[in-house]
Amino acid sequence: MDMDKLVSLCKRRGFLFQSSEIYGGLNGFWDYGPLGVELKRNIKEAWWQDMVRGHDELSTPAGAPEAYEMTGLDCTIIMHPQVWKVSGHYDLFCDMMVDCKATKKRYRYDQIKGRWAFRKDQVGTGKPPVFVTTVAEEFDADIERRALKYFNLRSKQADQLDLGELMSLPQGISAQHGYFESETYYDAEGKPALTDYSSDTPLNHVLAPEANEVGTLTEPREFNLMFKTIVGAMGTEEDAAFLRPETAQGIFVNFKNVLDSTRVKVPFGIAQIGKSFRNEITPRNFTFRSREFEQMEIEFFCHPNASRKWYEYWRDRRMKWYTDLGLAGERLIMREHAADELSHYSVGTADIEYAFPFLPEGEYGELEGIAHRGDFDLRSHMEGKLVKNAEGCLEVEMVPVEGKPDKLRPKHRGSGRDLTYRDEVTNEKFVPHVIEPSSGADRATLAFLCEAYYEDEQPDEKGEMQTRVVMRFHPRIAPIKAAVFPLVKKDGLPEIAQEIYRKLKAKFSAFYDEKGAVGRRYRRQDEAGTPYCITVDGQTLTDNTVTIRDRDTLEQWRVKVDEVVEEISKRVM
Ligand code: ATP
Repeated sequence: MDMDKLVSLCKRRGFLFQSSEIYGGLNGFWDYGPLGVELKRNIKEAWWQDMVRGHDELSTPAGAPEAYEMTGLDCTIIMHPQVWKVSGHYDLFCDMMVDCKATKKRYRYDQIKGRWAFRKDQVGTGKPPVFVTTVAEEFDADIERRALKYFNLRSKQADQLDLGELMSLPQGISAQHGYFESETYYDAEGKPALTDYSSDTPLNHVLAPEANEVGTLTEPREFNLMFKTIVGAMGTEEDAAFLRPETAQGIFVNFKNVLDSTRVKVPFGIAQIGKSFRNEITPRNFTFRSREFEQMEIEFFCHPNASRKWYEYWRDRRMKWYTDLGLAGERLIMREHAADELSHYSVGTADIEYAFPFLPEGEYGELEGIAHRGDFDLRSHMEGKLVKNAEGCLEVEMVPVEGKPDKLRPKHRGSGRDLTYRDEVTNEKFVPHVIEPSSGADRATLAFLCEAYYEDEQPDEKGEMQTRVVMRFHPRIAPIKAAVFPLVKKDGLPEIAQEIYRKLKAKFSAFYDEKGAVGRRYRRQDEAGTPYCITVDGQTLTDNTVTIRDRDTLEQWRVKVDEVVEEISKRVM
């Protein structure tokens, strides 16, 4: 699927707009248009219905160790700053970034790719090779184009160019020695043909993604992804607060409130849907990496001995949720993290990933992470920020007291509250382990949009073949469930159609359209992803039936006017 076609359809039909577009837009922020808001809302509602409201706590779901309860929360975006100090986000939620002194552009260090390059006829002249970089999606073409330009070569002279293997910037500059030692760079007598620049700073030989000269990138620096703001009128540094970078912490700090105000018992889960904010250095790929986005998260609390089974249950359950809503096939995968990628307290983490069309062939983007988090979060909020000690166990991070270097204090103090759980039956007291399925509503919406896009060839009114664009959404998430058309604007057909429309609209989103040729009206609904179109025609006047047309099969059948609502309801709910 061509991503440009989807992006243009999203704008043309009102799924997605760039935020503040009339002022030139704001990078990393997106608005949902009239169709987009319905689609995203349906996705969030399907999640809430399937995970929380519709959950049956009286029976054991397939694959689960036992029956469990689910409840919801809605926490604030700005929380006490100590939350982020204790959770580790204040010290650790950073990406490495580099600045280009020439173009004033800023890049994420690990997102820059490049190849070592030199002109073959300059070997032996003492001219150093250059690490030519890019951040473009079409990285191969961009690197070659930029290398040719840098070395003053025309595209016909591409064979004059020697390009090394593709590496990220960090790998590339640390592998500089490997470059010099490879056999390409030895002359006929076996002597190194290129000067050894290994004592030089590798960054001096990097051609930054949009620069014309080498050596314009700064050393990488840490950049905290949390947006900072000021609470209250004083505006001092003590009043600094942060927009939450994840919804999860609101659940952990309310753990005791939920226990005390309900009768939930471990195992149980708390779910939340809400906005999160990350000051991503390079927002990109449409809504995939935005600076403001929405998350759908569950923190599931269980006994430590059962946590592995619960992890496996949630991993499989969440994968099935996407496939049930139509993200089936090879484009959706589950990737288990290797043991050495895991935190030592974790028995597993898996990502559900989708082959987004803007990614290179064979690459997948994360839709959701399912992580076993042990007792890390609840313990941190009790005791203080935790770090791993020499034995690999978690303990409170200590720092010297100011002025008394031999005395230590916790770096970031916890709440001191008791966040343990007491089992009423066994009387056992423990800190529950947590399984966290954490997904992004915007990434899910984008994946459903990509998956739905489909083109086929259909004859128009004159019998000529035309390309038809269809958004094949699962009926549960389709923005409009049914559209109603009178075939012509006379003979009382509009009145009958409007009556049907009102009845449908009382139950779900429906659309009424009487303008233009009926074929064109069908095609507009195909692009919006409306699964069913109902047409009132001359025959309606004689036998009180209408046609229903199926968006995907194009099959048409007749039903009685007063059975339309039931017929559509059973297909879309
Ligand atoms: P990535 O590695 O892609 O930055 P992450 O591993 O940091 O993602 P998590 O912290 O696990 O992401 O967040 C959980 C989910 O929130 C992700 O799976 C994704 O769906 C969503 N998400 C995270 N960052 C963004 C973002 N910048 N824009 C849109 N959605 C996001």
